[in-house]
Amino acid sequence: THVVTDNCIKCKFTDCVEVCPVDCFYEGDNMLVIHPDECIDCGVCVPECPAEAIFPDTDPAAEPQWLRLNQEYADKW
Ligand code: SF4
Repeated sequence: THVVTDNCIKCKFTDCVEVCPVDCFYEGDNMLVIHPDECIDCGVCVPECPAEAIFPDTDPAAEPQWLRLNQEYADKW
């Protein structure tokens, strides 16, 4: 899966949402998140994010705490 990290907090852009082919972005409390079970790892959202907040979960920048938070917020929907 891909993971949204802290650079997204209070970001007002939604370019990522518009390009995702499976609509797996969801609104968290103050950031967007990716549903880990729905993301197909296509990667098209990564270059679209103006805040450089999205990473594959294999990237060291996608720390486990962010993956947990993406899952937690996405599960609320
Ligand atoms: Fe959507 Fe692809 Fe980004 Fe996953 S990697 S959130 S499927 S655009």
